[in-house]
Amino acid sequence: MQDRNLIGSEWISGSGEEIDVTNPATNEKIASVPNGGAAEARRAVTAATEALPEWRSRTAFDRGKILRRIANLMLERQEPLAELMTREQGKPLAEARGEIAYAASFIDWAAEEGKRLDGELLPASAENKRILVMRQPVGVTACITPWNFPSAMIARKLGPALACGCTMVVKPAEQTPLSAIALAEIALEAGLPPGVMNVVTGDAAAIGEELFSNPAVRKVSFTGSTEVGKILIKQSAQNVTRLSLELGGHAPFLVFDDADVKAAVAGAMASKYRNMGQTCVCPNRFYVQQGIYDEFVAGLTAAVEALRIGSGLEEGIEVGPLIDDPAIEKVERHVSDALEKGGKLRTGGKRAKVEGMADRFYMPTIVEDFTPDMTMACEETFGPVSPLRRFRHEDEAVEWANDSPYGLASYFYTRDASRLMRVAERLEYGIVGANDGTPSTAQAPFGGVKQSGIGREGGRYVMHEYTEIKYVSWGL
Ligand code: ADP
Repeated sequence: MQDRNLIGSEWISGSGEEIDVTNPATNEKIASVPNGGAAEARRAVTAATEALPEWRSRTAFDRGKILRRIANLMLERQEPLAELMTREQGKPLAEARGEIAYAASFIDWAAEEGKRLDGELLPASAENKRILVMRQPVGVTACITPWNFPSAMIARKLGPALACGCTMVVKPAEQTPLSAIALAEIALEAGLPPGVMNVVTGDAAAIGEELFSNPAVRKVSFTGSTEVGKILIKQSAQNVTRLSLELGGHAPFLVFDDADVKAAVAGAMASKYRNMGQTCVCPNRFYVQQGIYDEFVAGLTAAVEALRIGSGLEEGIEVGPLIDDPAIEKVERHVSDALEKGGKLRTGGKRAKVEGMADRFYMPTIVEDFTPDMTMACEETFGPVSPLRRFRHEDEAVEWANDSPYGLASYFYTRDASRLMRVAERLEYGIVGANDGTPSTAQAPFGGVKQSGIGREGGRYVMHEYTEIKYVSWGL
């Protein structure tokens, strides 16, 4: 296991200061990585700048071959990579394996999609002219990623950036740098030229400032909180650095009277309790129509109470620890606020004690009768808590669902095809799971509206994020 930073072809150790990486399930220190800052970020940008001319001049076929090798190596090493992820992040091993495959799928998709970047020749307004439109790589890029999907959040930025001919500096979250470093090792082994991918760990604010004040960086792609996203928007003004932002969400989950209740419960379980509820697309508000409410809540409660809590490394575990102490304290705050304001606890509502483990496990929870004045009704809980509320009719449910400054993911269940299209059109969200609790996939556009972000990742859409359009007015 490498615990260093990759700058160009060099694996760099920290100059004395290090950041500890701990297993959230046990508090055990598993590694320490360099506490880099502006100087390290600058060196990484220089390495990415030096690598750019050669990388961008290669054919998309050539770049695609290397990217496919990276994806294949990730799949070959799925088991050790998944274990490493569970150790630094806490998620159950089965989910970590799934994430490695999911991460590899973004790189694999991009490897192919790079070959399909095209241009246009448009009719001109004068006989002796032609209009040529070409797409070119943006140049040196950077990504800043969160801890909840330590591998996938990098892969879905890195894959397309590299496929388009850009180079990249990766700044992973402080809690989960090891998955990022492992990916960089694989990339070098797959034949990626030094400097095309660089990894810098350490002081996020200092690294961020360097990335935005350095004019060589033409684009930053960020996944994280809306709060930090807004700071980056301000910083990007300095050099008019292009930005892609995938920020917070507050997903509504609607269940109509005509829904398939079993499917709705399964969708709710997959979207809400995966990764202990620590995803930006997981439902934060369940609105259930009154006629089906009792059946849905009974099904959900039974499924929630059957979840197995424990160390993610143990086979069969479905709920691991939360990422750190502030995370579990936030969940506790949200639940006690809801109960004080009249919410009814259906199940869970407290920490779970797991023999021999850290005190960082929270019981999967359901709170009924939540109201808009509760903190969990407007802030992301980022934990395994489902707030439920009854609704009477479609208009009311859609109005409640849209009453949020966020607009990332939304979900609803119905068997009425007309309603399906009507509600899908009316939901003010970038992603709609219509009878689907897990819509994310490599070929689809992922991203939000309102304060949930700018830009899209995935599919052919992400390729616009890493290419510039150039117009050549061609006189004959
Ligand atoms: P979370 O609350 O999920 O940890 P953050 O937005 O705080 O989300 O973190 C997401 C990523 O942004 C992490 O890699 C973190 O280190 C980084 N980050 C945090 N603050 C800043 C900042 N001021 N500038 C640049 N990156 C930052």
